[in-house]
Amino acid sequence: MSLPNCPKCNSEYVYEDGILLVCPECAYEWDPNEVEEDGLVVLDSNGTKLSDGDTVTVIKDLKVKGAPKDIKQGTRVKNIRLVEGDHNIDCKIDGFGAMKLKSEFVKKL
Ligand SMILES: [Zn+2]
Repeated sequence: MSLPNCPKCNSEYVYEDGILLVCPECAYEWDPNEVEEDGLVVLDSNGTKLSDGDTVTVIKDLKVKGAPKDIKQGTRVKNIRLVEGDHNIDCKIDGFGAMKLKSEFVKKL
């Protein structure tokens, strides 16, 4: 049986430790059964798992390319959708429209 790559850094050198899988390169540990259920695991700035439809707040001012203003810290973002990639949250923000955010810059409410 082959083990999956690390979901954080994509390392191939993952090994089993009891029921958990461990990545020796970034030290990430996870339960493979949990990953399988959801497919995509997106964590906020506190390491809390995010789900489609969650409401989050932005934890720092974010510059937006082409926008006249920043997204302010504390901006509330409703009904997020998780996607693959570097900017792993699809959402709409009042005054900005459709946006993609990085989960590391938000906090689940
Ligand atoms: Zn890793």
